[in-house]
Amino acid sequence: MSALIPHSRPTISEDDVQAVTEVIRSGFLAQGERVREFERHFAAFLGMREAVATSSGTAALHLALLALGVGMGDEVICPSYVCVAVLHAIRYTGATPVLADIEPQTYNLSPQSVRQSLTSRTKALIVPHLFGLPADVDELLSFGLPLIEDCAQMVGGQYHGRPVGTLGTVAIFSFYATKLLCTGEGGMVVCDAPEILARLQDLREYDERPGGHLRFNYKMTDLQAALGLSQLARLPAFIQRRKAIAACYTAVLRELDIDPPTLPPDRDHIFFRYVVRRPEPVGPVLERFAPHGIVCRRPVFRPIHQYLEQGGFPESEAAWEHVLSVPIYPSLTEQEVDCVVAGLRAVLRKEE
Ligand SMILES: *Cc1c(COP(=O)(O)O)cnc(C)c1O
Repeated sequence: MSALIPHSRPTISEDDVQAVTEVIRSGFLAQGERVREFERHFAAFLGMREAVATSSGTAALHLALLALGVGMGDEVICPSYVCVAVLHAIRYTGATPVLADIEPQTYNLSPQSVRQSLTSRTKALIVPHLFGLPADVDELLSFGLPLIEDCAQMVGGQYHGRPVGTLGTVAIFSFYATKLLCTGEGGMVVCDAPEILARLQDLREYDERPGGHLRFNYKMTDLQAALGLSQLARLPAFIQRRKAIAACYTAVLRELDIDPPTLPPDRDHIFFRYVVRRPEPVGPVLERFAPHGIVCRRPVFRPIHQYLEQGGFPESEAAWEHVLSVPIYPSLTEQEVDCVVAGLRAVLRKEE
């Protein structure tokens, strides 16, 4: 049997290889000119003042929290149904993570659940745009708290006509191998406030700096930045391709009388993940894709409330139980898309 179509895979071109090779040959491998160039291009892409490159999305989130002054005794609200990296970043600061539930239609942070979790110690909200669909940012901003957009799954989309990543106080990005745009490992923080930017830059590196306070080595390398720059040039094409593949999957679901992912008005879905909700638990369903040559997964490995052994997050629990994610990435060939379509049709068809 031929190899299975993996759930995720990076999209690497000859230009990408060339860009990284040039850096290796140059002899300047650590944080240098290429990192600064990537930061400038990335900020310009979003229309922001400046960007600060980091070693990962988790490092970006940690620095963003610290730059907002989050620490011991503070509470930070985040959804339960998200990558557990968010939990770790909050814990690095000594702050208390406070979980909120999601909206069942969009899988994003529920403003109503956030309202119930607010206390006098709430210092910030972390708002992921899960699967490439913007969260309900306007409602979440109405609480008047610093808002960190977690754009690890959404770069280059729009919310009410504005670019995602420019809507809150700061935004963080991840360039992990299988994210929308990749540098192997890597991340970015963008922000328009000069004092926050200065703190981010100060905390990211330890060498030749005044003051003896706690600092980190969260730098990106020029090797990674060269790949990031090369990928950034193709990001609009990547997104177009994701939307085109999503349209193929949506057509099959409609044919099978299954609801496709929700798209609220005036929000862009760039389909980092294409998810399908099933009435039955997805565990056994996932196993039925392999004979059709496809790997499908749960899009969130485990919701955070399960790690923390907390109850009371029914929508996060239901999403974990009933939602599966189908391979979608620009490096899928037409033939592979046809194979996924055939697999969806075979596995999700109603039993007669
Ligand atoms: C991937 C991801 C992160 C963590 O990024 P890393 O680069 O892997 O550290 C954080 N938040 C979300 C929503 C993610 O998908």
